[in-house]
Amino acid sequence: MLILDGKIVAQKMKLQIAEKALDFESKVGRKPGLGVIIVGEDPASHVYVRNKEIACNAVNFHSVRIQLPASTTESELLQAIVSMNQNELVDAFLVQMPLPSHLSTERMLDAIDPMKDADGLHPINMGYLWVNRQRVAPCTPWGVMKILEHYQIPIKGKRCVVVGRSQIVGRPMAHLLTMADGTVTVCHSRTFNTREITKEADIIVVAAGQKHLLGRDDFKNGAVVIDVGIHGSGQGKAVTGDVRFSELEGHATAATPVPGGVGPMTIACLLENTMTLAQLKKK
Ligand code: NAD
Repeated sequence: MLILDGKIVAQKMKLQIAEKALDFESKVGRKPGLGVIIVGEDPASHVYVRNKEIACNAVNFHSVRIQLPASTTESELLQAIVSMNQNELVDAFLVQMPLPSHLSTERMLDAIDPMKDADGLHPINMGYLWVNRQRVAPCTPWGVMKILEHYQIPIKGKRCVVVGRSQIVGRPMAHLLTMADGTVTVCHSRTFNTREITKEADIIVVAAGQKHLLGRDDFKNGAVVIDVGIHGSGQGKAVTGDVRFSELEGHATAATPVPGGVGPMTIACLLENTMTLAQLKKK
C-alpha cells in the first residue's frame, strides 16, 4: 500500500511559497502577512495556531495574532475582524474555529474581507469556487486535491465517495472532485446503507469527525483512502483519524496516515491562499 505522505507534499508546496514570498518582499518591501484571531482557551486550537505561526516563519511570512478571552462579545470579535481587514501588513487572516458557542460563525465569516479570506470560507469565495472561478479554496479539501495530484492518482471517470457534508470539508471536497471529472456521491449522518456506497469508491475521502468509523470492510479492494479526521490533537493523546488505518495494508492501494496525511496539507494550503491573495492585492 502506498502511503500518501502529506508532509512531503506540504514541504514541496512550502518551498515554492517561500520563493514567492521572497520575490514579493523584494518587490513590495514587506513580507506577505497572515493573521489569526483566536478566541478562548481550546487546547487543540492553540496548537493549530502555534503551528500556523511556525509555518509562517518557515516561508518568510509575517504573522499577526489577536488573542481574545472566551468571554469576548460578538461586537468585540467583529472589531478584531475589522482591525485585521484594515491592517496593511495582513494580506489574509482567519478566525480559528471552533468559536465559543455564544459567537456566530456565520456573522464572523461575513465580516471578513473576501480579499483577505485565508481559509477560503467566505460566501463570496465559496460562490466563486462553485461557478468554477476559484480564487481561494477551503484549505482542507484543497489539500486533499494537492495530495491526489502529487501522487498522480487519476480522478477522471473514477467513483468518488465523500463521507461528511460539512461546509468546510465535505461539500467543497465533493465539488472539487466533481470538477476534476470524478463521479461523486456524498454520504452523511442520515445516509442509509453507507457501507454499500463506500464499498463502490475508487477514491474515498472520510471527513465524518467520528474516530475510527471506517475500516477494511467499508472499502473495496484497491481503493484510495483519504482520512481527513483528527482526534486527540492538543489533548496529550495519540492523534488518530476517522479510518482504522492498520486494517488497510494489503487491501487499499493508497492511503493517508493520521497524523502526517491531510493535516500538514491544510496549513500548506492556508499559506498558499495567503500568497495568492497577497499577489492579487499587489496587482
Ligand atoms: P463536522 O462535524 O462539521 O461534519 C461531519 C460530517 O460527517 C457531517 O456532515 C455529518 O453528517 C457526517 N457524519 C457524521 N457521522 C457520520 C456517519 N456515521 N456516517 C456518515 N457521515 C457522518 O466535521 P468537519 O469539520 O467536516 O470535520 C470532519 C473531521 O475532519 C473531524 O475529525 C475534524 O477534526 C477533521 N478535520 C481535519 C482537518 C485537517 O486539517 N486534517 C481540517 C478540518 C477538519
